[in-house]
Amino acid sequence: MDLLIPDKVHDESRQGEALILEPVGKHNGRKLYIESYGCAMNFSDSEIVASILAEKGFETTSDFNNADVIFINTCSIRENAEVRVRNRLKEFAGAKFRNPGMVVGVLGCMAERLKAKFLEEEKLVDVVVGPDAYRDLPNLIEQVDSGQRAVNVLLSREETYADISPVRLNSNGINAFVSIMRGCDNMCSFCVVPFTRGRERSRDAYSVVAECKDLFDKGYREVTLLGQNVDSYKWTKPHPALSKGEGSEEDGKVLSFGEDLGEAPEVVNFANLLEMVALVSPELRVRFSTSHPKDITDEVLHTIAKYENICNYIHLPVQSGNSRILDIMNRTYDREWYMNRIDAIRRIIPECAISTDVITGFCTETEDEHNDTVTMMDYVKYDFAYMFKYSERPGTLAAKRYADDIPEEIKQRRLAQIVAKQQEYSFYRMQARIGKVEKVLIEGYSKKSDKDYCGRSDQNAMVIFPVSENYKPGQYVNVLVERTTSATLIGTIVD
Ligand code: SAM
Ligand code: SF4
Repeated sequence: MDLLIPDKVHDESRQGEALILEPVGKHNGRKLYIESYGCAMNFSDSEIVASILAEKGFETTSDFNNADVIFINTCSIRENAEVRVRNRLKEFAGAKFRNPGMVVGVLGCMAERLKAKFLEEEKLVDVVVGPDAYRDLPNLIEQVDSGQRAVNVLLSREETYADISPVRLNSNGINAFVSIMRGCDNMCSFCVVPFTRGRERSRDAYSVVAECKDLFDKGYREVTLLGQNVDSYKWTKPHPALSKGEGSEEDGKVLSFGEDLGEAPEVVNFANLLEMVALVSPELRVRFSTSHPKDITDEVLHTIAKYENICNYIHLPVQSGNSRILDIMNRTYDREWYMNRIDAIRRIIPECAISTDVITGFCTETEDEHNDTVTMMDYVKYDFAYMFKYSERPGTLAAKRYADDIPEEIKQRRLAQIVAKQQEYSFYRMQARIGKVEKVLIEGYSKKSDKDYCGRSDQNAMVIFPVSENYKPGQYVNVLVERTTSATLIGTIVD
């Protein structure tokens, strides 16, 4: 059992969701079915894929039986994520049998990890495409149409799809993900991401701001800036004297906090980017994920504190509370460093909600070391946590260096212990909001009743309250919190 409390970035309820978009341009008579697994980055990538194929005249369908092309955008982060995809592929076999001309493609992290081996292992699959090769999809589909199977898993040092304006799929028209960087250079020893998504690269800051502005103009009221480690975002504006892409850092300067943004900065760090996006409109909420404890700076925290529309919520994965385990995880911080960052958040943004990721039963973890994770949870009292048993991934540093030696029952027991602990703290954090007034962005009707609206508080808690005819989804309301569950605040609108 991996337990997580869903939010928009790690949304369990969206796993396997099929994407539907409004037809654009001229239809080529072919239908695309695309479903996604894993993190928000994959869902965001599926929007890029759909945009590329919509340009070529594809329409989307929500029924794979009617599709001419089926794409499954995959996740490799834990073994069970891959098992899920393999099982799903079996379900496509019947449709392909009935329509032998159908193209079945595997996209994303699992495609990148297994490459051409996928074609050997899964006879159903015609095309395997890694996360940096989506521009090549129309060609690859043509290749399959001409009777060949096709693979493109080249990773790029430059590709950010900055110029592709993603169609928003299955959107409520209120919140959107905006990818600000791709890849990861961190090499945490348990993690497959650096191998499946390649080197870290930051997207043109002005294209990020332009996309956010465009979303705001279309009525969106919340953007979530996405990257594996947003704190290491750094974009250097190419020097005008040099051709595109050759700008060097030495040519630029890093803006210091509060410096006037009237002049375009030549080097944009994450604090600068947050500020630029916050300035799009005070009515646009800004969220971001994921922060890395080694890189999150006080400058970022001060920027969050300075702008009312940058939400007071930070996802700061700890992974373990023990310094030896953090060392062999190659996280490059220790317990004291992490606590210092928590103290800085509490000092600079006193009302900030904090969530985390935890892995139990990493290689050689002793009972005392596990207890350090438990006491870290006591120290921080996280608002939410995503908790996982360690799952060895082939090719990672941990798989090469350390034995996966913690028995399954012990991993499970440790996981259950931290899950129980987290439930206590989630409830504690929720209870602390009773009697407070939360500014909520209305997202729509609650899942259970169309007599209630739902939306998120600044601190990312889900809030449910009775519908008022004076307010519509996309508007902000003040809600007085009257009671809670461990995952939801319940209240009424106050003016
Ligand atoms: N870049 C983010 C970070 O550094 O925290 C998140 C990356 S990953 C998509 C999300 C989470 O999956 C990680 O924070 C970690 O807790 C978990 N994870 C990654 N590899 C894992 C593995 N091999 N076994 C169990 N959990 C894993
Ligand atoms: Fe994986 Fe670490 Fe990069 Fe996160 S920071 S994606 S856990 S390597």
